Amino acid sequence: MKYAKIKKCDVANGPGVRVSLFVSGCNHHCKNCFNREAWDFNYGNDFTQKEQDEIIQDLKPEYIDGLSLLGGEPFERENQEGLAPFIKKVKETYPNKKIWCYTGFTFDKQILQEMVETENRESTKEMLQNIDYIVDGRFVEELKDPKLRFRGSSNQRIIDVKRSLEQNQIVIWDGLNKDLG
Ligand code: SF4
Repeated sequence: MKYAKIKKCDVANGPGVRVSLFVSGCNHHCKNCFNREAWDFNYGNDFTQKEQDEIIQDLKPEYIDGLSLLGGEPFERENQEGLAPFIKKVKETYPNKKIWCYTGFTFDKQILQEMVETENRESTKEMLQNIDYIVDGRFVEELKDPKLRFRGSSNQRIIDVKRSLEQNQIVIWDGLNKDLG
């Protein structure tokens, strides 16, 4: 797996201060994508053990709230295979730090129905065991709204993964209203 960049102090992609990993490769090709260079699966550098160890260290300080995964597309098959064991390790090391993941796929139809139920992908199931919140859906230029927190267009949802799986329905992150005051 390749990655485009790692931000060690990110306050834009999830609550609090976060470490953000931007993986390479995305087939969604949304109009006016913010990160076109990362469509290419060969863009950037190899995501090696060195980068993984550095992120684990970067997550250690108390003021770091968690890890955010962005792209590119973390749920492209190639990237899932690279990310699944890594985020398992992150969660084992820091069970209380929240993992957020941005994806252009829809959580219910494409991730749960297609990848998990139809294709029975182990890497998807493993990703879902360790991701706390998913921001889902492609960026839609016509629905762009700069007032939205942590997402670009109003079709995108911030989904509480654990509660959604437990309740078998989409549960939206309850921090959004609190955050908006
Ligand atoms: S899913 Fe994200 S990275 Fe991929 S094209 Fe859309 S906005 Fe760009």
